[in-house]
Amino acid sequence: MTPLAEILLRRIAATGPITIADYMAECLLHPEYGYYSTRDPFGAGGDFTTAPEISQMFGELIGLCLAQTWLDQDQPAAFTLAELGPGRGTLMADILRATGQVPGFLQAANLCLVEASVTLREKQRETLGAYQVNWLDRVSDLPDAPLYLVANEFFDALPIRQFTRDEKGWREHQITDQEGSLQIGLSTPAPIAALDHRLNDTKPGDIVEICAPGVAIAGSLSTRINVHGGVAIIVDYGGWRSLGDTLQALRHHKMEDPLANPGNADITAHVDFEALASAATDISTSQMTPQGVLLERLGITARARQLAENLQGDALDSHVAAHRRLTHGDEMGTLFKAIAFHPNGTNPPPGFAP
Ligand code: SAH
Repeated sequence: MTPLAEILLRRIAATGPITIADYMAECLLHPEYGYYSTRDPFGAGGDFTTAPEISQMFGELIGLCLAQTWLDQDQPAAFTLAELGPGRGTLMADILRATGQVPGFLQAANLCLVEASVTLREKQRETLGAYQVNWLDRVSDLPDAPLYLVANEFFDALPIRQFTRDEKGWREHQITDQEGSLQIGLSTPAPIAALDHRLNDTKPGDIVEICAPGVAIAGSLSTRINVHGGVAIIVDYGGWRSLGDTLQALRHHKMEDPLANPGNADITAHVDFEALASAATDISTSQMTPQGVLLERLGITARARQLAENLQGDALDSHVAAHRRLTHGDEMGTLFKAIAFHPNGTNPPPGFAP
Protein backbone atom coordinates (compact mmCIF):
# COMPACT_ATOMS: atom_id res chain seq x y z
CA MET A 1 0.00 0.00 0.00
CA THR A 2 1.33 3.47 -0.85
CA PRO A 3 1.78 6.05 1.95
CA LEU A 4 -0.95 8.14 0.34
CA ALA A 5 -3.38 5.17 0.40
CA GLU A 6 -2.84 4.97 4.17
CA ILE A 7 -3.47 8.69 4.57
CA LEU A 8 -6.66 8.45 2.51
CA LEU A 9 -7.94 5.42 4.47
CA ARG A 10 -7.40 7.33 7.72
CA ARG A 11 -9.25 10.33 6.31
CA ILE A 12 -12.17 8.15 5.18
CA ALA A 13 -12.32 6.47 8.60
CA ALA A 14 -12.46 9.89 10.26
CA THR A 15 -14.85 11.82 8.00
CA GLY A 16 -16.48 9.35 5.60
CA PRO A 17 -16.23 8.57 1.86
CA ILE A 18 -14.45 11.07 -0.42
CA THR A 19 -15.38 12.10 -3.96
CA ILE A 20 -13.34 11.10 -7.00
CA ALA A 21 -12.36 14.78 -7.24
CA ASP A 22 -10.91 14.73 -3.72
CA TYR A 23 -9.10 11.53 -4.57
CA MET A 24 -7.62 12.89 -7.85
CA ALA A 25 -6.53 16.13 -6.19
CA GLU A 26 -4.69 14.23 -3.44
CA CYS A 27 -3.15 11.70 -5.85
CA LEU A 28 -1.80 14.38 -8.17
CA LEU A 29 -0.88 17.26 -5.90
CA HIS A 30 -0.61 16.08 -2.27
CA PRO A 31 2.37 18.19 -1.10
CA GLU A 32 4.38 15.21 0.13
CA TYR A 33 3.14 12.19 -1.82
CA GLY A 34 1.34 13.66 -4.86
CA TYR A 35 2.29 12.35 -8.27
CA TYR A 36 3.30 15.70 -9.77
CA SER A 37 4.71 17.00 -6.49
CA THR A 38 7.29 14.24 -6.26
CA ARG A 39 8.56 13.55 -9.77
CA ASP A 40 9.15 14.41 -13.40
CA PRO A 41 6.80 11.86 -15.01
CA PHE A 42 7.62 12.38 -18.69
CA GLY A 43 9.60 10.48 -21.28
CA ALA A 44 10.68 6.93 -21.91
CA GLY A 45 11.77 6.31 -18.30
CA GLY A 46 8.63 7.95 -16.92
CA ASP A 47 4.96 7.09 -17.00
CA PHE A 48 3.69 8.86 -20.10
CA THR A 49 4.70 11.17 -22.88
CA THR A 50 3.02 14.18 -24.43
CA ALA A 51 2.90 15.82 -27.87
CA PRO A 52 5.69 18.35 -27.21
CA GLU A 53 7.89 15.58 -25.80
CA ILE A 54 7.32 13.57 -28.99
CA SER A 55 8.41 16.26 -31.44
CA GLN A 56 9.52 19.89 -31.54
CA MET A 57 7.04 20.40 -34.40
CA PHE A 58 4.07 20.52 -32.02
CA GLY A 59 5.36 23.53 -30.06
CA GLU A 60 6.69 25.30 -33.13
CA LEU A 61 3.32 25.18 -34.88
CA ILE A 62 1.35 26.17 -31.77
CA GLY A 63 3.80 29.02 -31.16
CA LEU A 64 3.46 30.36 -34.70
CA CYS A 65 -0.32 30.04 -34.40
CA LEU A 66 -0.23 32.22 -31.25
CA ALA A 67 2.12 34.73 -32.90
CA GLN A 68 -0.02 34.97 -36.06
CA THR A 69 -3.05 35.66 -33.86
CA TRP A 70 -1.06 38.40 -32.12
CA LEU A 71 -0.23 39.91 -35.54
CA ASP A 72 -3.88 39.65 -36.61
CA GLN A 73 -4.96 41.43 -33.40
CA ASP A 74 -2.73 44.44 -34.23
CA GLN A 75 0.24 43.38 -32.12
CA PRO A 76 -0.67 44.57 -28.61
CA ALA A 77 2.44 46.30 -27.26
CA ALA A 78 2.58 44.40 -23.97
CA PHE A 79 0.93 41.02 -23.53
CA THR A 80 1.05 37.84 -21.47
CA LEU A 81 2.41 34.71 -23.13
CA ALA A 82 1.12 31.96 -20.86
CA GLU A 83 1.04 28.21 -20.49
CA LEU A 84 -1.05 26.18 -18.05
CA GLY A 85 0.68 23.07 -16.68
CA PRO A 86 3.97 23.35 -18.61
CA GLY A 87 5.40 19.94 -17.58
CA ARG A 88 9.11 19.97 -18.39
CA GLY A 89 8.88 23.31 -20.21
CA THR A 90 9.49 21.67 -23.58
CA LEU A 91 6.39 23.10 -25.26
CA MET A 92 7.22 26.63 -24.12
CA ALA A 93 10.87 26.25 -25.21
CA ASP A 94 9.70 25.27 -28.71
CA ILE A 95 7.18 28.13 -28.77
CA LEU A 96 9.88 30.64 -27.78
CA ARG A 97 12.39 29.36 -30.33
CA ALA A 98 9.87 29.45 -33.19
CA THR A 99 8.34 32.81 -32.28
CA GLY A 100 11.78 34.37 -31.89
CA GLN A 101 11.56 34.70 -35.70
CA VAL A 102 8.49 36.96 -35.47
CA PRO A 103 9.65 40.59 -35.17
CA GLY A 104 8.54 42.23 -31.93
CA PHE A 105 6.65 39.22 -30.51
CA LEU A 106 8.98 38.12 -27.72
CA GLN A 107 10.00 41.72 -26.95
CA ALA A 108 6.33 42.44 -26.09
CA ALA A 109 5.76 39.18 -24.20
CA ASN A 110 5.59 38.74 -20.43
CA LEU A 111 6.12 35.00 -19.96
CA CYS A 112 3.87 33.43 -17.30
CA LEU A 113 3.67 29.74 -16.39
CA VAL A 114 0.86 28.43 -14.19
CA GLU A 115 2.33 25.41 -12.41
CA ALA A 116 1.36 23.75 -9.13
CA SER A 117 4.32 21.39 -8.77
CA VAL A 118 7.51 22.71 -7.17
CA THR A 119 9.47 19.82 -8.71
CA LEU A 120 8.28 20.63 -12.21
CA ARG A 121 8.86 24.38 -11.72
CA GLU A 122 12.51 23.48 -11.09
CA LYS A 123 12.60 21.42 -14.28
CA GLN A 124 11.00 24.30 -16.20
CA ARG A 125 13.61 26.68 -14.79
CA GLU A 126 16.35 24.43 -16.24
CA THR A 127 14.67 24.16 -19.64
CA LEU A 128 13.87 27.86 -19.94
CA GLY A 129 16.99 29.21 -18.23
CA ALA A 130 17.64 31.78 -20.94
CA TYR A 131 14.28 33.51 -20.43
CA GLN A 132 12.69 35.70 -17.77
CA VAL A 133 9.81 33.59 -16.42
CA ASN A 134 7.05 34.35 -13.90
CA TRP A 135 5.56 31.33 -12.17
CA LEU A 136 1.98 31.63 -10.98
CA ASP A 137 -0.06 29.37 -8.71
CA ARG A 138 -3.35 29.83 -10.51
CA VAL A 139 -5.09 31.31 -13.52
CA SER A 140 -6.58 34.11 -11.41
CA ASP A 141 -3.00 35.37 -10.82
CA LEU A 142 -2.48 36.13 -14.55
CA PRO A 143 -1.81 39.84 -15.16
CA ASP A 144 -4.54 42.09 -16.58
CA ALA A 145 -3.22 42.24 -20.16
CA PRO A 146 -3.91 40.71 -23.58
CA LEU A 147 -3.47 36.96 -23.12
CA TYR A 148 -1.95 34.48 -25.59
CA LEU A 149 -2.24 31.15 -23.85
CA VAL A 150 -1.78 27.45 -24.48
CA ALA A 151 -2.77 24.49 -22.33
CA ASN A 152 -1.73 21.02 -23.49
CA GLU A 153 -2.78 18.06 -21.34
CA PHE A 154 -3.58 20.40 -18.45
CA PHE A 155 -7.38 20.10 -18.21
CA ASP A 156 -7.20 16.28 -18.12
CA ALA A 157 -5.33 16.53 -14.81
CA LEU A 158 -8.04 18.59 -13.11
CA PRO A 159 -10.24 16.71 -10.63
CA ILE A 160 -13.55 15.34 -11.90
CA ARG A 161 -16.62 14.04 -10.10
CA GLN A 162 -18.44 11.02 -11.48
CA PHE A 163 -22.15 10.24 -11.30
CA THR A 164 -24.30 7.30 -12.32
CA ARG A 165 -27.79 8.17 -13.52
CA ASP A 166 -30.58 6.65 -11.46
CA GLU A 167 -34.36 6.74 -11.85
CA LYS A 168 -34.50 9.32 -9.05
CA GLY A 169 -31.42 11.43 -9.75
CA TRP A 170 -27.66 10.88 -9.66
CA ARG A 171 -25.54 8.62 -7.48
CA GLU A 172 -22.06 10.01 -6.93
CA HIS A 173 -19.07 7.69 -7.19
CA GLN A 174 -17.23 7.82 -3.89
CA ILE A 175 -14.10 6.24 -2.55
CA THR A 176 -14.76 4.13 0.51
CA ASP A 177 -12.81 1.82 2.80
CA GLN A 178 -13.71 -1.81 2.14
CA GLU A 179 -11.91 -3.93 4.70
CA GLY A 180 -8.77 -1.87 4.57
CA SER A 181 -8.61 -1.15 0.86
CA LEU A 182 -9.88 1.69 -1.29
CA GLN A 183 -13.02 0.84 -3.28
CA ILE A 184 -15.60 2.74 -5.32
CA GLY A 185 -19.09 3.01 -3.83
CA LEU A 186 -22.21 4.92 -4.86
CA SER A 187 -23.98 7.58 -2.81
CA THR A 188 -27.75 7.60 -2.39
CA PRO A 189 -29.46 9.20 -5.40
CA ALA A 190 -29.97 12.97 -5.37
CA PRO A 191 -30.74 15.67 -7.94
CA ILE A 192 -27.61 17.55 -9.12
CA ALA A 193 -28.38 20.99 -10.58
CA ALA A 194 -25.25 20.97 -12.76
CA LEU A 195 -26.54 17.78 -14.43
CA ASP A 196 -30.19 18.76 -14.99
CA HIS A 197 -29.50 19.27 -18.71
CA ARG A 198 -28.11 15.73 -18.94
CA LEU A 199 -31.44 14.18 -17.93
CA ASN A 200 -32.50 14.59 -21.58
CA ASP A 201 -29.70 12.58 -23.18
CA THR A 202 -28.90 9.91 -20.59
CA LYS A 203 -30.68 6.87 -19.24
CA PRO A 204 -30.46 5.05 -15.90
CA GLY A 205 -27.06 3.39 -15.56
CA ASP A 206 -25.21 5.96 -17.68
CA ILE A 207 -22.12 7.58 -16.15
CA VAL A 208 -21.32 11.26 -16.61
CA GLU A 209 -18.43 13.34 -15.31
CA ILE A 210 -18.12 16.98 -14.37
CA CYS A 211 -14.91 18.92 -13.95
CA ALA A 212 -15.76 21.98 -11.85
CA PRO A 213 -12.22 23.44 -11.82
CA GLY A 214 -11.99 23.09 -15.62
CA VAL A 215 -15.28 24.91 -16.09
CA ALA A 216 -14.17 27.68 -13.70
CA ILE A 217 -10.83 28.12 -15.50
CA ALA A 218 -12.50 28.20 -18.94
CA GLY A 219 -14.89 30.88 -17.64
CA SER A 220 -12.04 32.96 -16.25
CA LEU A 221 -10.00 32.71 -19.50
CA SER A 222 -13.07 33.76 -21.44
CA THR A 223 -13.60 36.84 -19.26
CA ARG A 224 -9.94 37.86 -19.60
CA ILE A 225 -9.91 37.45 -23.37
CA ASN A 226 -13.13 39.42 -23.64
CA VAL A 227 -11.73 42.31 -21.57
CA HIS A 228 -8.10 42.38 -22.75
CA GLY A 229 -8.04 40.49 -26.08
CA GLY A 230 -5.87 37.52 -27.01
CA VAL A 231 -6.52 33.84 -27.53
CA ALA A 232 -6.49 30.55 -25.62
CA ILE A 233 -5.63 27.27 -27.34
CA ILE A 234 -6.61 24.18 -25.38
CA VAL A 235 -5.39 20.75 -26.52
CA ASP A 236 -6.29 17.57 -24.70
CA TYR A 237 -7.74 14.14 -25.08
CA GLY A 238 -11.47 13.92 -24.78
CA GLY A 239 -14.55 14.80 -26.76
CA TRP A 240 -17.78 16.72 -27.01
CA ARG A 241 -20.04 15.95 -24.01
CA SER A 242 -19.01 13.56 -21.28
CA LEU A 243 -20.48 10.07 -21.27
CA GLY A 244 -19.02 7.02 -19.56
CA ASP A 245 -16.24 6.41 -17.04
CA THR A 246 -13.02 7.92 -18.42
CA LEU A 247 -10.95 7.99 -15.22
CA GLN A 248 -7.64 6.34 -15.99
CA ALA A 249 -4.29 5.73 -14.37
CA LEU A 250 -0.98 5.32 -16.21
CA ARG A 251 2.21 4.00 -14.68
CA HIS A 252 5.30 3.11 -16.70
CA HIS A 253 3.29 3.65 -19.91
CA LYS A 254 0.68 1.04 -18.89
CA MET A 255 -2.93 1.49 -17.78
CA GLU A 256 -3.80 0.33 -14.29
CA ASP A 257 -6.66 0.51 -11.78
CA PRO A 258 -6.86 4.16 -10.67
CA LEU A 259 -7.21 3.00 -7.05
CA ALA A 260 -4.16 0.70 -7.14
CA ASN A 261 -1.27 3.10 -6.49
CA PRO A 262 -2.44 6.50 -5.27
CA GLY A 263 0.37 9.02 -5.66
CA ASN A 264 2.50 6.76 -7.86
CA ALA A 265 0.41 6.76 -11.05
CA ASP A 266 -0.74 9.59 -13.29
CA ILE A 267 -4.51 9.94 -12.98
CA THR A 268 -6.49 11.76 -15.66
CA ALA A 269 -9.95 11.93 -17.20
CA HIS A 270 -11.17 12.84 -20.66
CA VAL A 271 -11.85 16.53 -21.17
CA ASP A 272 -15.45 17.51 -21.92
CA PHE A 273 -14.94 20.23 -24.55
CA GLU A 274 -18.63 21.09 -24.59
CA ALA A 275 -18.45 21.98 -20.89
CA LEU A 276 -15.39 24.21 -21.50
CA ALA A 277 -17.04 25.92 -24.50
CA SER A 278 -20.28 26.44 -22.56
CA ALA A 279 -18.34 28.14 -19.77
CA ALA A 280 -16.72 30.56 -22.22
CA THR A 281 -19.76 32.79 -22.41
CA ASP A 282 -18.04 36.15 -23.04
CA ILE A 283 -16.17 35.23 -26.21
CA SER A 284 -16.33 33.06 -29.35
CA THR A 285 -15.15 29.48 -29.42
CA SER A 286 -13.81 27.69 -32.47
CA GLN A 287 -15.05 24.29 -33.53
CA MET A 288 -13.47 21.45 -31.62
CA THR A 289 -10.78 20.18 -34.02
CA PRO A 290 -8.94 16.85 -33.98
CA GLN A 291 -5.24 17.38 -33.23
CA GLY A 292 -4.20 15.69 -36.49
CA VAL A 293 -6.39 18.03 -38.54
CA LEU A 294 -5.15 21.10 -36.66
CA LEU A 295 -1.48 20.21 -37.14
CA GLU A 296 -2.00 19.45 -40.83
CA ARG A 297 -3.71 22.81 -41.31
CA LEU A 298 -0.83 24.52 -39.52
CA GLY A 299 1.64 22.93 -41.96
CA ILE A 300 3.16 20.02 -40.08
CA THR A 301 3.86 18.08 -43.27
CA ALA A 302 5.93 20.90 -44.79
CA ARG A 303 7.80 21.36 -41.51
CA ALA A 304 8.38 17.60 -41.21
CA ARG A 305 9.88 17.48 -44.73
CA GLN A 306 12.13 20.41 -43.99
CA LEU A 307 13.45 18.82 -40.77
CA ALA A 308 13.86 15.45 -42.53
CA GLU A 309 16.35 16.96 -44.99
CA ASN A 310 19.00 17.04 -42.26
CA LEU A 311 18.26 13.61 -40.77
CA GLN A 312 19.38 10.08 -41.59
CA GLY A 313 19.09 6.54 -40.25
CA ASP A 314 17.47 6.12 -36.82
CA ALA A 315 17.00 9.85 -36.34
CA LEU A 316 15.04 10.04 -39.60
CA ASP A 317 12.97 6.97 -38.68
CA SER A 318 12.04 8.38 -35.30
CA HIS A 319 11.19 11.77 -36.85
CA VAL A 320 8.85 10.09 -39.35
CA ALA A 321 7.31 8.04 -36.51
CA ALA A 322 6.82 11.19 -34.41
CA HIS A 323 5.00 12.95 -37.25
CA ARG A 324 2.72 9.95 -37.60
CA ARG A 325 2.19 9.70 -33.86
CA LEU A 326 1.06 13.31 -33.55
CA THR A 327 -1.31 13.27 -36.53
CA HIS A 328 -2.51 9.76 -37.41
CA GLY A 329 -6.05 8.71 -36.55
CA ASP A 330 -4.81 5.50 -34.91
CA GLU A 331 -2.41 7.43 -32.68
CA MET A 332 -2.94 10.90 -31.16
CA GLY A 333 -4.48 12.52 -34.24
CA THR A 334 -8.13 11.82 -33.45
CA LEU A 335 -8.26 11.09 -29.70
CA PHE A 336 -6.72 14.49 -28.97
CA LYS A 337 -8.79 17.57 -29.74
CA ALA A 338 -8.17 21.30 -29.77
CA ILE A 339 -10.40 24.31 -29.27
CA ALA A 340 -9.63 28.04 -29.40
CA PHE A 341 -11.22 30.88 -27.42
CA HIS A 342 -11.04 34.22 -29.23
CA PRO A 343 -12.72 37.62 -28.87
CA ASN A 344 -16.15 38.13 -30.40
CA GLY A 345 -15.90 39.70 -33.83
CA THR A 346 -12.46 38.21 -34.58
CA ASN A 347 -11.55 35.19 -36.71
CA PRO A 348 -10.44 32.06 -34.89
CA PRO A 349 -6.66 31.53 -34.95
CA PRO A 350 -5.06 29.79 -37.95
CA GLY A 351 -5.96 26.09 -38.13
CA PHE A 352 -9.32 26.50 -36.38
CA ALA A 353 -12.77 26.87 -37.94
CA PRO A 354 -15.46 29.22 -36.55
N1 SAH B 1 1.80 20.61 -20.90
C1 SAH B 1 2.86 19.66 -20.62
C2 SAH B 1 2.60 18.81 -19.36
C3 SAH B 1 1.26 18.18 -19.15
S1 SAH B 1 1.17 17.28 -17.61
C4 SAH B 1 3.11 18.80 -21.83
O1 SAH B 1 2.34 18.89 -22.76
O2 SAH B 1 4.10 18.07 -21.83
C5 SAH B 1 0.20 18.31 -16.58
C6 SAH B 1 0.89 19.54 -16.05
O3 SAH B 1 -0.06 20.30 -15.31
C7 SAH B 1 2.04 19.29 -15.08
O4 SAH B 1 3.01 20.30 -15.27
C8 SAH B 1 1.36 19.43 -13.71
O5 SAH B 1 2.24 19.67 -12.65
C9 SAH B 1 0.43 20.58 -13.99
N2 SAH B 1 -0.75 20.67 -13.12
C10 SAH B 1 -1.62 19.69 -12.81
N3 SAH B 1 -2.63 20.16 -12.05
C11 SAH B 1 -2.40 21.49 -11.90
C12 SAH B 1 -3.09 22.54 -11.23
N4 SAH B 1 -4.22 22.31 -10.58
N5 SAH B 1 -2.58 23.79 -11.29
C13 SAH B 1 -1.41 24.03 -11.97
N6 SAH B 1 -0.73 23.07 -12.61
C14 SAH B 1 -1.19 21.82 -12.58
